Amino acid sequence: MRSILITGAASGIGAGIALELGRAGHHIIVSDLNPDAAGEVARQIREAGGSAEAVALDVTSDESVAAALAAISRPVEVLVNNAGLQHVARLEEFPMARWDFLVQVMLTGVARLTRAVLPGMRERGFGRIINISSINGQKGQMGQTNYAAAKAGVIGFTKALALENAAKGVTVNCICPGYIDTDMVAAVPEDVLKKIIAGIPVGRLGRAEEIAAAVVYLASDAAGFATGSVMTINGGQYMANG
Ligand code: NAD
Repeated sequence: MRSILITGAASGIGAGIALELGRAGHHIIVSDLNPDAAGEVARQIREAGGSAEAVALDVTSDESVAAALAAISRPVEVLVNNAGLQHVARLEEFPMARWDFLVQVMLTGVARLTRAVLPGMRERGFGRIINISSINGQKGQMGQTNYAAAKAGVIGFTKALALENAAKGVTVNCICPGYIDTDMVAAVPEDVLKKIIAGIPVGRLGRAEEIAAAVVYLASDAAGFATGSVMTINGGQYMANG
């Protein structure tokens, strides 16, 4: 059993990852901006016979990260950087204050939390960092210069950090989901969503548990030789080389 902290785990893909890792027998630290919703996910894991706790954690705040790590019951052996959100607008119309904030959540937040847990992982000689990027960080998307830039940044971050930690038993990998049936995708206008689904060879949106299954593998002891990899899970929509 490993202790696994997941950011943005109160809903969507993060909650799916939390539930699946809980079923796999790990201790889950469900973290989110919204502590009540995180508590609900932790309760579901415990009700299913698993082990879980919830904590409030804002990835944009050093204070919040420090307080969350001080409050949890176990050291973090596996970190899943999942928190994210998007603002769709052409670049000329993108409010620059919003730009910086979103990069704080999706890219700087990944670095902030990783820095906080990495020394312990290196000392113990075991660690897993699993970053949730996106298909749109690989291929780009209209109205998503900010999101694509942040998510592409996560891919570069993953590869560089993997090199820095490979000799210390700490692996760093990244998953690029395609379109997954969550609140984030539910916000896409229906006509646009229809076109997106028409472009997915598998013919449907993905499910959170299909991303979670890959996280279960990357978190496992068996995945010690996988590092710096970019796992593409998108129903065949975009076949990337990494
Ligand atoms: P979601 O909106 O359902 O969940 C995101 C969670 O992140 C929410 O619970 C929210 O409270 C939390 N969050 C937001 N800002 C935060 C902050 N500052 N600190 C901590 N938590 C914060 O979204 P989702 O669809 O489940 O997306 C999860 C991740 O997967 C995101 O990184 C997203 O970019 C990525 N992704 C999603 C899709 C998709 O199709 N849904 C595709 C590719 C990648």
